[in-house]
Amino acid sequence: MTKPRLLWINILVFLATFLVAAVAVPYRAITHGFDSFEIITAIICFCFCGISITAGYHRLWSHRTYKAHASVRFIYAIGGAFALQNSILHWSSDHRVHHKHVDNNDVDPYSAKKGFWFSHIGWMLRDYHRETYSNYDNVRDLQKEKIVMWQHKNYLLLTIITNFGIPIGLGLLHGDVWSSILLIGVMRLVLSHHTTFFINSLAHIWGKQTYTKKNTARDNGILAFFTFGEGYHNFHHIFENDYRNGIRWFHFDPTKWIIKVCSYLNLAHSLRKTPEDKIAKAKAHMQLVNSQTKLQHSIHAEELISKLQHEYDLLIDHMTLYYETKKKLIAQKGNQLSEDVERSSLVQHYKELKENLNLRYKNWDLLRAQYA
Ligand SMILES: [Zn+2]
Ligand SMILES: [Zn+2]
Repeated sequence: MTKPRLLWINILVFLATFLVAAVAVPYRAITHGFDSFEIITAIICFCFCGISITAGYHRLWSHRTYKAHASVRFIYAIGGAFALQNSILHWSSDHRVHHKHVDNNDVDPYSAKKGFWFSHIGWMLRDYHRETYSNYDNVRDLQKEKIVMWQHKNYLLLTIITNFGIPIGLGLLHGDVWSSILLIGVMRLVLSHHTTFFINSLAHIWGKQTYTKKNTARDNGILAFFTFGEGYHNFHHIFENDYRNGIRWFHFDPTKWIIKVCSYLNLAHSLRKTPEDKIAKAKAHMQLVNSQTKLQHSIHAEELISKLQHEYDLLIDHMTLYYETKKKLIAQKGNQLSEDVERSSLVQHYKELKENLNLRYKNWDLLRAQYA
């Protein structure tokens, strides 16, 4: 089978920027040096590009996990062009296909099953999806958005203005155009490209499958640090409508924090979250599957697996009761008419259920540690 034709423009852009970042930038750093203004503005521009992709292209437009004010959408549209990752419309269309057909080598545009190189950058170097390249049927909702369509139509112009205009403008302002082009123009772009590409490659290879094994996506805290929180990719693939990727308070997810801050400033609203019980049950189920796999070859496999299953069933029953009561309690909070006595008995019941659930969790953890 003949391979699709090479996309020379993409190859040249990736190769030339990479070589400049790997050779010319370090050479300039040694012979000339970069000052703090140049370094700080490069970091700011890197963050601007990264956040525009994660909070804008990804969580806002591809997955519709929240709604944002037009000013925020406009800023992300500009940042996305600066990041040079195709238009919102195209990026989101590709990404929705990636989620729907994840790991399917024939359809997923950056299928991780085709290996690290392909999912990282290889998929952009050849014309793999020529027939479907301009098919935007899966982003009809985005086609109704003025900012999205304006950016799509003017994408090339916007990439030129941002990628040349911003570095040259800052260079003129600061008095060193070449340093600015190298650091803010090229180095920022290369780092921005590859950190995003890691989500398609490394985040499907390296890390834990905390919630599901149905696809290759992994949770990885280290990767989250370099990708503005997108490293919790296993969670993201199972609960793609959640505006968060890292759900615990200590999970490094600046994209989630920015969206939350925007909601406090009335710049974002309708933030979508997965119900807690769904997350807890998915996690427990994965723990069950992992322990069962480990126990398969033990001498008393059948007996141990059935004990484990029994403890798991108990845990799930307790979870259901606990979360149902929690929901009732929250609903009652808004209901002024609820009697004090009725409420206090519900609170008491809730506390008991919480204690019981904690106990079940302890048993569950102990049993898994003992067996597997
Ligand atoms: Zn996604
Ligand atoms: Zn993915």
